Amino acid sequence: MRMSKLLVPTLREVPSDAEIMSHKLMMRAGYIRKLSSGIYSYLNLGLRCERKVEKIIREEMDRAGAQEILMPALLPAEAYQASGRWDVFGPSMFKLKDRYERDFCLGPTHEELFTQTVINEVRSYKEYPMTLYQIQTKYRDEARPRFGVMRSREFVMKDAYSFDRDAAGLDESYKKMYDAYCRIFTRLGLDFTIVDADSGAMGGSGSQEFMVKSPVGEDSIAYCDACNYAANYEKAQCIPEKKEFSEGDLALEKVETPDVHTIEELVGFFGTEPYVFAKTIIYKADDKYIAAMVRGDREINEVKLKNLVGCVDDLELAEPFMVRQLTNAEVGFAGPIGLEIEVIADLEVAEMKNFIIGANDTGYHYKNVNINRDFTPSKIADIRVISDGDKCPVCGQPIKTAQGIEVGHIFKLGTKYSEALGLNYTDESGEAKTVIMGCYGIGVTRCIAAAIEQGYDDNGIVLPVAIAPYQAIVVPVNNKEEEQMKIAEEIYEDLKAQGIEVLLDDRAERAGVKFKDADLIGIPLRIVVGKKCGEGIVEYKLRTAESAVEKTIDEAKAEAVEYIKNKL
Ligand code: ATP
Ligand code: MG
Repeated sequence: MRMSKLLVPTLREVPSDAEIMSHKLMMRAGYIRKLSSGIYSYLNLGLRCERKVEKIIREEMDRAGAQEILMPALLPAEAYQASGRWDVFGPSMFKLKDRYERDFCLGPTHEELFTQTVINEVRSYKEYPMTLYQIQTKYRDEARPRFGVMRSREFVMKDAYSFDRDAAGLDESYKKMYDAYCRIFTRLGLDFTIVDADSGAMGGSGSQEFMVKSPVGEDSIAYCDACNYAANYEKAQCIPEKKEFSEGDLALEKVETPDVHTIEELVGFFGTEPYVFAKTIIYKADDKYIAAMVRGDREINEVKLKNLVGCVDDLELAEPFMVRQLTNAEVGFAGPIGLEIEVIADLEVAEMKNFIIGANDTGYHYKNVNINRDFTPSKIADIRVISDGDKCPVCGQPIKTAQGIEVGHIFKLGTKYSEALGLNYTDESGEAKTVIMGCYGIGVTRCIAAAIEQGYDDNGIVLPVAIAPYQAIVVPVNNKEEEQMKIAEEIYEDLKAQGIEVLLDDRAERAGVKFKDADLIGIPLRIVVGKKCGEGIVEYKLRTAESAVEKTIDEAKAEAVEYIKNKL
């Protein structure tokens, strides 16, 4: 392709709403343009990159034995109503009505529709195991669309669904997808970490996420360098930490603590350490109220709590008026003593002695509290967030934490959707059974942003050959020089004939401008045709190399072809 004909509207200025590098660079390099919040158009470069990500995914899904189909994005409400997700998705589902007032949505994910397809089309148990997938546009009215295509409201997802006769079959199907995902993300050039993920309170026997570690990632992960343990924060198992508390069974004391609310203020007031306090937080779990307790220096893990209490819809902080009603005190003075709702204490709280809690009386705290003497929690469980330096639950070495971008998610669903929608089969002995499902997603468009987060420098995008929009660029330094133009054209035509996706920068621009643009848009290999071309010498430079090297024209062409073909 000739640069003079290619729509590459590069920008000098960074759009003001672009916060992270991948977003800034995709805008500056003319990959994407914003149409509305979380809605983007793909220009030629962005689309080519997207198609390459799709191609790699498609090849590996096919290799793993999955079959591609395509469901609509505009979906009737019924299947989502049957599964309950018409309501569960809440405001994040784009809902609309047709001219006859019938309910539709724009598909946020397609478990229901794939389940329905299998109900309608599969005739015999002999057809299982079966894995179906699609690469389709998804719609989610995200609460905070941001970071460009990283978290958008319209995005492309590869979603696959496996259908098996039993749990052992699901394990196998899941393993195949796991292996395919490893190959996909490796081919995309992503440095990824596989983490154990939460599979929710309802059904599901296992789930893993493929994360790209990055400071801009919106997920938090805990990992151990000593062994292979890695988990999403939501799931990471916490080992109680031993702390020193005052010895003996000190007498419970109610202390006046006027205007002292936060843990920091309490630490100052009592002249002690945060871990000597236990905080009590009141939550609304579906339609009941519960209290959760963690040590003062810890945070409650709401996902663990939600799963523990079997909360189906929503777990949220109790409204202040309910806190007042339940504790007879202003917010900030809640404690377990005398509280008439379920109290769930973290494992570490169970190991505390002579500690300090809110007294359910405005302006008062209790000190020297001892569990089982002064109050008895209804449940003791791991409900806290893991932190840096915590012991690894597998090997005991210190845990590290990092932010991660979730690029893929694989999930053993079990019978959640097959039961809700009635996907059953009759086995060889005539017995009726429920089909066991798994689901497997990849954020296709998010992968591009993740790849750029991992690959950029001061000059712009640095993409691997496998997904860069074009593989090479030939730059004549001065297109008024006939010889330079002629040789550049020849190299360009030759590389094209050898199957290389190559650009020719034939624009009447200064060489510096052309080099800048080639770097900005992330072309992995550049051949510059300058003054020495008459002697048969050109400059050859990889996007990742510090500087260019001189080569003969034939060497440059041969090496370019070899380099690129090896990277595919
Ligand atoms: P997140 O926690 O980031 O909102 P999710 O867990 O809700 O994602 P899944 O339902 O697991 O997402 O979807 C499968 C994949 O689709 C994710 O792993 C992610 O890569 C991608 N994805 C999800 N939401 C978005 C979005 N708003 N924009 C771009 N990609 C997305
Ligand atoms: Mg997910």
